[in-house]
Amino acid sequence: MSGALVIVELVSGKLPQAGLELLALARLLSGGSVSVMAPGADEVTVRTLIARGADIVYVTGVAGTNDYNSDSWIGCAERLARELNPALILAVHNSTGADLAPRLAFRLGYGCATGCVAVENRDGVLHFTRPCYGGNARETVSFNTGLVVATVRAGVCDALPVDAARSGEVVAVELLPSRVRVIERKRDSGGAQRLEDAKVIVAGGRGLNGPEGFNVLEPLAATLGGVVGASRVPCDLGWCSHAMQIGLTGKTVTPELYIAVGISGASHHLAGCGNAKTIVAINTDAEAAIFRDAKFGVVGDYAKVVPALTAAIKTLPAV
Ligand SMILES: Cc1cc2nc3c(=O)[nH]c(=O)nc-3n(C[C@H](O)[C@H](O)[C@H](O)COP(=O)(O)OP(=O)(O)OC[C@H]3O[C@@H](n4cnc5c(N)ncnc54)[C@H](O)[C@@H]3O)c2cc1C
Repeated sequence: MSGALVIVELVSGKLPQAGLELLALARLLSGGSVSVMAPGADEVTVRTLIARGADIVYVTGVAGTNDYNSDSWIGCAERLARELNPALILAVHNSTGADLAPRLAFRLGYGCATGCVAVENRDGVLHFTRPCYGGNARETVSFNTGLVVATVRAGVCDALPVDAARSGEVVAVELLPSRVRVIERKRDSGGAQRLEDAKVIVAGGRGLNGPEGFNVLEPLAATLGGVVGASRVPCDLGWCSHAMQIGLTGKTVTPELYIAVGISGASHHLAGCGNAKTIVAINTDAEAAIFRDAKFGVVGDYAKVVPALTAAIKTLPAV
Protein backbone atom coordinates (compact mmCIF):
# COMPACT_ATOMS: atom_id res chain seq x y z
CA MET A 1 0.00 0.00 0.00
CA SER A 2 1.54 3.30 -1.06
CA GLY A 3 0.79 6.48 -2.91
CA ALA A 4 -1.70 9.19 -2.18
CA LEU A 5 -5.16 10.24 -3.28
CA VAL A 6 -5.82 13.98 -3.28
CA ILE A 7 -9.40 15.25 -3.42
CA VAL A 8 -9.53 18.63 -5.12
CA GLU A 9 -12.57 20.89 -5.07
CA LEU A 10 -12.64 23.56 -7.77
CA VAL A 11 -13.76 27.05 -6.78
CA SER A 12 -15.90 28.68 -9.48
CA GLY A 13 -14.33 26.23 -11.93
CA LYS A 14 -10.77 27.18 -10.93
CA LEU A 15 -8.08 25.25 -9.07
CA PRO A 16 -7.51 26.82 -5.67
CA GLN A 17 -3.92 27.40 -4.58
CA ALA A 18 -4.48 25.18 -1.51
CA GLY A 19 -5.34 22.27 -3.82
CA LEU A 20 -2.05 22.70 -5.70
CA GLU A 21 -0.20 22.79 -2.39
CA LEU A 22 -1.76 19.42 -1.47
CA LEU A 23 -0.39 17.92 -4.69
CA ALA A 24 3.12 19.03 -3.72
CA LEU A 25 2.65 17.62 -0.21
CA ALA A 26 1.39 14.31 -1.60
CA ARG A 27 4.45 14.07 -3.89
CA LEU A 28 6.74 14.79 -0.96
CA LEU A 29 5.16 12.26 1.41
CA SER A 30 3.66 9.45 -0.59
CA GLY A 31 6.65 7.63 -2.07
CA GLY A 32 4.29 6.35 -4.74
CA SER A 33 1.95 7.62 -7.38
CA VAL A 34 -0.27 10.61 -6.72
CA SER A 35 -3.89 10.26 -7.84
CA VAL A 36 -6.34 13.12 -7.88
CA MET A 37 -10.11 13.06 -7.74
CA ALA A 38 -11.26 16.30 -9.32
CA PRO A 39 -15.02 16.58 -9.73
CA GLY A 40 -15.98 18.88 -12.59
CA ALA A 41 -12.42 19.33 -13.91
CA ASP A 42 -12.20 20.32 -17.56
CA GLU A 43 -9.30 19.61 -19.92
CA VAL A 44 -7.28 22.67 -18.92
CA THR A 45 -7.62 21.85 -15.23
CA VAL A 46 -6.56 18.25 -15.82
CA ARG A 47 -3.45 19.42 -17.72
CA THR A 48 -2.60 21.80 -14.88
CA LEU A 49 -3.02 19.06 -12.27
CA ILE A 50 -0.61 16.81 -14.15
CA ALA A 51 1.89 19.64 -14.73
CA ARG A 52 1.77 20.34 -10.97
CA GLY A 53 2.40 16.78 -9.78
CA ALA A 54 -0.57 14.45 -10.46
CA ASP A 55 0.09 11.03 -12.01
CA ILE A 56 -3.54 10.02 -12.52
CA VAL A 57 -6.51 12.38 -12.59
CA TYR A 58 -9.92 10.87 -11.98
CA VAL A 59 -12.40 13.15 -13.65
CA THR A 60 -15.84 12.82 -12.18
CA GLY A 61 -19.21 14.40 -12.89
CA VAL A 62 -19.84 16.89 -15.64
CA ALA A 63 -17.04 19.36 -16.51
CA GLY A 64 -17.80 22.72 -14.94
CA THR A 65 -20.33 21.39 -12.40
CA ASN A 66 -18.49 20.54 -9.24
CA ASP A 67 -20.85 21.55 -6.42
CA TYR A 68 -20.02 19.47 -3.39
CA ASN A 69 -22.47 16.68 -2.62
CA SER A 70 -21.22 14.73 0.38
CA ASP A 71 -23.08 11.54 -0.49
CA SER A 72 -21.81 11.16 -4.04
CA TRP A 73 -18.30 12.56 -3.43
CA ILE A 74 -17.65 10.30 -0.44
CA GLY A 75 -19.04 7.29 -2.31
CA CYS A 76 -16.77 8.01 -5.27
CA ALA A 77 -13.71 8.65 -3.07
CA GLU A 78 -14.38 5.43 -1.15
CA ARG A 79 -14.58 3.41 -4.38
CA LEU A 80 -11.32 4.97 -5.65
CA ALA A 81 -9.57 4.37 -2.32
CA ARG A 82 -10.61 0.70 -2.27
CA GLU A 83 -9.23 0.33 -5.80
CA LEU A 84 -5.99 2.30 -5.28
CA ASN A 85 -5.22 1.45 -1.63
CA PRO A 86 -3.47 4.78 -0.98
CA ALA A 87 -1.63 5.15 2.32
CA LEU A 88 -2.71 8.79 2.49
CA ILE A 89 -5.84 10.65 1.39
CA LEU A 90 -5.64 14.44 1.46
CA ALA A 91 -8.23 17.20 1.21
CA VAL A 92 -8.06 20.94 1.84
CA HIS A 93 -9.19 21.96 5.33
CA ASN A 94 -12.39 23.84 4.59
CA SER A 95 -16.06 23.03 5.09
CA THR A 96 -15.94 20.38 2.34
CA GLY A 97 -12.81 18.70 3.73
CA ALA A 98 -14.15 18.83 7.29
CA ASP A 99 -17.36 17.11 6.18
CA LEU A 100 -15.74 14.55 3.91
CA ALA A 101 -12.64 13.42 5.81
CA PRO A 102 -14.09 11.81 8.96
CA ARG A 103 -16.87 10.07 7.07
CA LEU A 104 -14.48 8.70 4.47
CA ALA A 105 -12.00 7.60 7.15
CA PHE A 106 -14.76 5.78 9.03
CA ARG A 107 -15.92 3.91 5.94
CA LEU A 108 -12.37 2.86 5.04
CA GLY A 109 -11.12 2.15 8.56
CA TYR A 110 -8.40 4.80 8.13
CA GLY A 111 -7.15 7.18 10.81
CA CYS A 112 -8.28 10.80 10.50
CA ALA A 113 -6.43 14.07 11.20
CA THR A 114 -8.22 17.32 10.41
CA GLY A 115 -6.93 20.89 10.24
CA CYS A 116 -3.25 19.90 9.94
CA VAL A 117 -0.63 22.65 9.94
CA ALA A 118 2.24 20.26 9.16
CA VAL A 119 2.66 16.71 7.90
CA GLU A 120 6.06 15.02 8.07
CA ASN A 121 7.45 11.66 7.13
CA ARG A 122 9.71 10.57 10.03
CA ASP A 123 11.47 7.30 9.19
CA GLY A 124 8.57 6.09 7.11
CA VAL A 125 5.86 7.06 9.62
CA LEU A 126 3.61 10.02 8.84
CA HIS A 127 3.22 12.56 11.65
CA PHE A 128 0.38 15.08 11.57
CA THR A 129 0.52 18.33 13.54
CA ARG A 130 -2.73 20.15 14.31
CA PRO A 131 -3.99 22.82 16.72
CA CYS A 132 -5.77 21.50 19.83
CA TYR A 133 -7.31 22.95 23.02
CA GLY A 134 -9.05 25.66 20.98
CA GLY A 135 -5.82 26.67 19.24
CA ASN A 136 -3.84 27.15 22.47
CA ALA A 137 -1.56 24.17 21.81
CA ARG A 138 -0.45 21.91 18.98
CA GLU A 139 -0.41 18.14 18.99
CA THR A 140 1.53 15.82 16.70
CA VAL A 141 -0.11 12.45 16.08
CA SER A 142 0.72 9.30 14.15
CA PHE A 143 -1.61 6.37 13.52
CA ASN A 144 -1.13 2.68 14.07
CA THR A 145 -3.52 2.08 11.16
CA GLY A 146 -0.75 3.46 8.93
CA LEU A 147 -3.55 4.66 6.63
CA VAL A 148 -4.80 8.18 7.07
CA VAL A 149 -7.32 10.68 5.71
CA ALA A 150 -6.14 14.21 6.52
CA THR A 151 -7.33 17.74 5.86
CA VAL A 152 -4.52 20.26 5.56
CA ARG A 153 -4.66 24.02 6.03
CA ALA A 154 -3.56 26.40 3.28
CA GLY A 155 0.09 27.46 3.22
CA VAL A 156 1.59 24.29 4.67
CA CYS A 157 3.91 23.90 1.67
CA ASP A 158 4.61 25.57 -1.66
CA ALA A 159 2.92 24.29 -4.81
CA LEU A 160 5.27 22.64 -7.32
CA PRO A 161 6.26 24.76 -10.31
CA VAL A 162 4.53 23.98 -13.61
CA ASP A 163 6.31 21.17 -15.48
CA ALA A 164 4.65 21.07 -18.89
CA ALA A 165 6.72 18.00 -19.83
CA ARG A 166 5.08 15.81 -17.16
CA SER A 167 2.66 13.21 -18.46
CA GLY A 168 -0.17 11.52 -16.64
CA GLU A 169 -3.26 9.42 -17.08
CA VAL A 170 -6.84 10.67 -17.17
CA VAL A 171 -9.61 8.32 -16.08
CA ALA A 172 -13.32 9.13 -16.18
CA VAL A 173 -15.31 7.81 -13.24
CA GLU A 174 -18.92 8.32 -12.36
CA LEU A 175 -20.13 10.06 -9.25
CA LEU A 176 -22.54 7.75 -7.43
CA PRO A 177 -26.21 8.70 -7.29
CA SER A 178 -26.93 10.68 -4.15
CA ARG A 179 -29.68 10.30 -1.59
CA VAL A 180 -29.38 14.07 -1.13
CA ARG A 181 -31.37 16.37 -3.39
CA VAL A 182 -30.07 19.95 -3.47
CA ILE A 183 -33.06 22.24 -3.71
CA GLU A 184 -31.29 25.58 -3.77
CA ARG A 185 -27.81 27.03 -3.29
CA LYS A 186 -27.28 30.52 -1.92
CA ARG A 187 -23.83 32.04 -1.96
CA ASP A 188 -22.96 34.33 0.93
CA SER A 189 -22.12 37.67 -0.66
CA GLY A 190 -18.94 37.84 1.44
CA GLY A 191 -17.86 34.59 -0.23
CA ALA A 192 -17.19 36.53 -3.44
CA GLN A 193 -13.92 37.65 -1.90
CA ARG A 194 -11.39 34.84 -2.07
CA LEU A 195 -9.57 35.43 1.19
CA GLU A 196 -7.71 32.13 0.83
CA ASP A 197 -5.97 33.25 -2.38
CA ALA A 198 -5.47 36.94 -1.46
CA LYS A 199 -1.94 38.36 -1.38
CA VAL A 200 -3.00 41.26 0.84
CA ILE A 201 -5.64 41.14 3.58
CA VAL A 202 -6.81 43.99 5.79
CA ALA A 203 -8.72 42.40 8.68
CA GLY A 204 -10.88 44.16 11.24
CA GLY A 205 -11.79 43.12 14.77
CA ARG A 206 -13.93 44.26 17.68
CA GLY A 207 -11.76 47.39 17.89
CA LEU A 208 -13.57 48.75 14.81
CA ASN A 209 -16.43 49.41 17.24
CA GLY A 210 -19.17 48.85 14.66
CA PRO A 211 -19.93 47.82 11.08
CA GLU A 212 -19.07 51.25 9.71
CA GLY A 213 -15.44 50.56 10.66
CA PHE A 214 -15.20 48.26 7.63
CA ASN A 215 -15.85 51.32 5.40
CA VAL A 216 -12.51 52.65 6.67
CA LEU A 217 -10.70 49.38 5.90
CA GLU A 218 -12.05 48.93 2.37
CA PRO A 219 -10.15 51.87 0.77
CA LEU A 220 -6.89 50.60 2.32
CA ALA A 221 -7.51 47.09 0.98
CA ALA A 222 -8.44 48.47 -2.45
CA THR A 223 -5.32 50.66 -2.57
CA LEU A 224 -3.15 47.62 -1.88
CA GLY A 225 -5.08 45.36 -4.26
CA GLY A 226 -6.24 43.27 -1.32
CA VAL A 227 -9.44 42.08 0.33
CA VAL A 228 -11.07 42.69 3.70
CA GLY A 229 -11.33 39.97 6.36
CA ALA A 230 -12.36 39.87 10.01
CA SER A 231 -11.88 38.26 13.37
CA ARG A 232 -14.76 36.23 14.74
CA VAL A 233 -16.24 38.98 16.91
CA PRO A 234 -17.44 41.31 14.10
CA CYS A 235 -18.87 38.28 12.26
CA ASP A 236 -20.76 37.10 15.35
CA LEU A 237 -22.01 40.63 16.02
CA GLY A 238 -23.36 40.84 12.46
CA TRP A 239 -21.04 43.70 11.46
CA CYS A 240 -19.84 41.68 8.47
CA SER A 241 -20.37 38.37 6.68
CA HIS A 242 -19.31 35.10 8.33
CA ALA A 243 -17.52 34.32 5.05
CA MET A 244 -14.94 36.92 6.14
CA GLN A 245 -13.98 35.15 9.38
CA ILE A 246 -10.33 34.20 9.70
CA GLY A 247 -9.11 31.83 12.39
CA LEU A 248 -9.48 28.43 13.94
CA THR A 249 -13.18 28.16 13.09
CA GLY A 250 -12.92 30.46 10.09
CA LYS A 251 -10.65 30.55 7.07
CA THR A 252 -6.94 29.84 6.94
CA VAL A 253 -5.13 32.52 4.96
CA THR A 254 -1.53 32.90 3.84
CA PRO A 255 -1.14 36.39 2.34
CA GLU A 256 2.12 38.23 1.80
CA LEU A 257 0.76 41.09 3.91
CA TYR A 258 -1.81 40.85 6.73
CA ILE A 259 -2.91 44.09 8.35
CA ALA A 260 -4.74 43.36 11.62
CA VAL A 261 -6.82 46.35 12.68
CA GLY A 262 -8.39 46.42 16.15
CA ILE A 263 -7.63 42.72 16.62
CA SER A 264 -6.14 41.61 19.95
CA GLY A 265 -4.29 38.56 18.55
CA ALA A 266 -6.05 35.64 20.30
CA SER A 267 -4.59 32.22 19.50
CA HIS A 268 -7.89 31.26 17.83
CA HIS A 269 -7.43 34.14 15.39
CA LEU A 270 -3.74 33.56 14.77
CA ALA A 271 -4.47 29.90 13.97
CA GLY A 272 -5.89 31.23 10.71
CA CYS A 273 -3.38 33.97 9.82
CA GLY A 274 -0.15 33.09 11.64
CA ASN A 275 1.44 31.88 8.39
CA ALA A 276 1.10 35.30 6.73
CA LYS A 277 4.51 36.49 5.52
CA THR A 278 4.29 39.91 7.17
CA ILE A 279 1.80 40.92 9.85
CA VAL A 280 1.18 44.59 10.55
CA ALA A 281 -0.89 45.48 13.63
CA ILE A 282 -2.84 48.65 14.34
CA ASN A 283 -4.14 48.72 17.90
CA THR A 284 -4.69 51.24 20.70
CA ASP A 285 -3.24 48.84 23.27
CA ALA A 286 0.56 48.62 23.12
CA GLU A 287 0.35 45.40 25.20
CA ALA A 288 -1.98 43.61 22.75
CA ALA A 289 -0.78 40.07 21.94
CA ILE A 290 -0.92 40.74 18.21
CA PHE A 291 2.25 42.88 18.49
CA ARG A 292 4.18 39.70 19.41
CA ASP A 293 3.48 38.26 15.96
CA ALA A 294 3.55 41.54 14.04
CA LYS A 295 6.65 42.63 12.15
CA PHE A 296 5.44 46.25 12.15
CA GLY A 297 2.97 47.89 14.48
CA VAL A 298 1.22 51.19 15.07
CA VAL A 299 -0.19 51.99 18.50
CA GLY A 300 -3.15 54.25 17.85
CA ASP A 301 -6.80 54.66 16.98
CA TYR A 302 -7.54 52.92 13.67
CA ALA A 303 -9.98 55.71 12.71
CA LYS A 304 -6.98 58.06 12.47
CA VAL A 305 -4.21 55.64 11.49
CA VAL A 306 -5.92 53.75 8.63
CA PRO A 307 -7.02 56.80 6.55
CA ALA A 308 -3.57 58.36 7.02
CA LEU A 309 -1.88 55.10 5.95
CA THR A 310 -4.18 54.80 2.92
CA ALA A 311 -3.42 58.38 1.86
CA ALA A 312 0.34 57.86 2.33
CA ILE A 313 0.33 54.65 0.26
CA LYS A 314 -1.52 56.44 -2.54
CA THR A 315 1.36 58.92 -2.85
CA LEU A 316 3.90 56.11 -3.44
CA PRO A 317 4.93 55.30 -7.00
CA ALA A 318 3.37 52.08 -8.35
CA VAL A 319 5.66 49.03 -8.31
C1 LIG B 1 -13.26 27.38 20.04
C2 LIG B 1 -13.06 28.82 19.64
C3 LIG B 1 -12.87 29.11 18.31
C4 LIG B 1 -12.63 30.43 17.92
N1 LIG B 1 -12.41 30.72 16.59
C5 LIG B 1 -12.07 31.96 16.23
C6 LIG B 1 -11.76 32.28 14.87
O1 LIG B 1 -11.84 31.44 13.97
N2 LIG B 1 -11.38 33.54 14.59
C7 LIG B 1 -11.29 34.53 15.54
O2 LIG B 1 -10.91 35.68 15.20
N3 LIG B 1 -11.62 34.27 16.81
C8 LIG B 1 -12.02 33.02 17.19
N4 LIG B 1 -12.37 32.79 18.47
C9 LIG B 1 -12.48 33.93 19.39
C10 LIG B 1 -11.16 34.39 19.94
O3 LIG B 1 -10.81 33.67 21.08
C11 LIG B 1 -11.20 35.90 20.31
O4 LIG B 1 -12.27 36.11 21.21
C12 LIG B 1 -11.39 36.81 19.10
O5 LIG B 1 -10.43 36.51 18.11
C13 LIG B 1 -11.19 38.27 19.57
O6 LIG B 1 -11.52 39.09 18.48
P1 LIG B 1 -10.91 40.56 18.40
O7 LIG B 1 -9.44 40.49 18.45
O8 LIG B 1 -11.56 41.20 17.22
O9 LIG B 1 -11.53 41.24 19.72
P2 LIG B 1 -10.85 41.65 21.10
O10 LIG B 1 -10.08 40.51 21.67
O11 LIG B 1 -11.91 42.24 21.91
O12 LIG B 1 -9.78 42.74 20.66
C14 LIG B 1 -10.14 44.01 20.20
C15 LIG B 1 -8.85 44.80 20.06
O13 LIG B 1 -9.15 46.06 19.47
C16 LIG B 1 -8.32 47.04 20.09
N5 LIG B 1 -8.98 48.34 19.88
C17 LIG B 1 -10.05 48.86 20.53
N6 LIG B 1 -10.37 50.06 20.02
C18 LIG B 1 -9.49 50.31 19.02
C19 LIG B 1 -9.30 51.39 18.11
N7 LIG B 1 -10.13 52.44 18.10
N8 LIG B 1 -8.30 51.31 17.20
C20 LIG B 1 -7.44 50.24 17.17
N9 LIG B 1 -7.58 49.19 18.04
C21 LIG B 1 -8.59 49.22 18.93
C22 LIG B 1 -8.23 46.60 21.54
O14 LIG B 1 -7.07 47.14 22.15
C23 LIG B 1 -8.15 45.09 21.39
O15 LIG B 1 -6.82 44.64 21.33
C24 LIG B 1 -12.62 31.47 18.88
C25 LIG B 1 -12.86 31.16 20.22
C26 LIG B 1 -13.07 29.85 20.60
C27 LIG B 1 -13.30 29.53 22.05
